[in-house]
Amino acid sequence: MRDVVRVPSNGLFFPVDSVSQPRASESLPASPKEPHQESQKESQAKRYSRIKISVRVAGTFLFFAVSFLVLLLGISSWLGGIATQVSNNPYVALLVFAALFGLGEIILGLPLSFFSGFYLEHRFKLSNQTFWKWAWEGMKGIFVGIPLTVPLLLTFYFCLRNFAEYWWLPVGTILFFFSVVLARIAPILIFPLFYKFKPVEDASLKSRILHLCAKVGVNVEGIFVFDMSKNTKKANAAFTGIGKSKRIILGDTLVANFTDDEIESVFAHELGHYKLKHLWTMIAVGTVSTFLGLYVTANLYAASLPWFAFSAVDELAALPLLTMWLGLYSLVTSPLSNMLSRAHERSADLYALRTTGNKDSFINAMRKLAKINLADTSPHPLIEFLFHSHPSIEKRIHAAERY
Ligand SMILES: [Zn+2]
Repeated sequence: MRDVVRVPSNGLFFPVDSVSQPRASESLPASPKEPHQESQKESQAKRYSRIKISVRVAGTFLFFAVSFLVLLLGISSWLGGIATQVSNNPYVALLVFAALFGLGEIILGLPLSFFSGFYLEHRFKLSNQTFWKWAWEGMKGIFVGIPLTVPLLLTFYFCLRNFAEYWWLPVGTILFFFSVVLARIAPILIFPLFYKFKPVEDASLKSRILHLCAKVGVNVEGIFVFDMSKNTKKANAAFTGIGKSKRIILGDTLVANFTDDEIESVFAHELGHYKLKHLWTMIAVGTVSTFLGLYVTANLYAASLPWFAFSAVDELAALPLLTMWLGLYSLVTSPLSNMLSRAHERSADLYALRTTGNKDSFINAMRKLAKINLADTSPHPLIEFLFHSHPSIEKRIHAAERY
């Protein structure tokens, strides 16, 4: 649920489905590299992936440790007291309380996000951002997140205050509608705040894409190129939106570095997500998971209130306990949602192979993506199971070779 509320500033955010591991370079080699350079590159990719995953694990650990200490040391009660002093109105007090926590979270999380989002990207020569550009993108993420989060928080708190132990039922329903509305408006109202989108201009690429769309009977309203290169050297593409807002977006880094054949393969993969209705499946599964998660956490939350001497579910100081349970639920279920995502990726890959009939270009595109995104092509199976939303490049290439 945290993911629904949070709008990350860099990279593509919910509800986007992308073609490559979005965390995974330097510019493409003009000529084949020497074998030792290849293995050097591989070990560099392994190191990069390892550090990135360590940072994620550290961030998760930090979240639980801080939440626990905040409850245990009475910091939450102290901040709850400040919030109720500011206003008698429970909803205003809630917003003050949430703002204090949000600020604390940003400050505590800053070293990790600087290390992972700025320092590491520069160290591995993946970033095109200056420090100020990076900071500005981060601030934009926060400013865009606030108007999305505030109404959600208020309705959530209203349900908590008025529906007693059944608060999870209306909250789950509201979150479902929120995710559908967000999926509908994000490509039109939110993504353009982070990137500039232009219709595909290259005539030969455009005609190939339109030809492919006609072949499979798809009328995608928008096929856009976005200025991914302002932030990164990595390449990506995605299918976004639902209803009238659905569109396929291609990073300018992809268009600049890949051949028309390779872009066609990537495009066909995105088309696969669209034709196979992956976004709707994600929303449906996400909704079931949200209801289940809210139900489970509502019960755990109510049962654990006395551990920290809280008495009511709507007590401000107790809310970090609820976010801790929600965090735990999303931690436990994230390998399952990654599993579903990897299954979608595999079927979109097969769809691309079937529609283009061009196995070689697909494999070349995969290799290039791995290189340009510094992806670990063969992660440890356990790492892949736990953290990766996409099958490893090695597996994807093997599947294509077998096709
Ligand atoms: Zn995909």
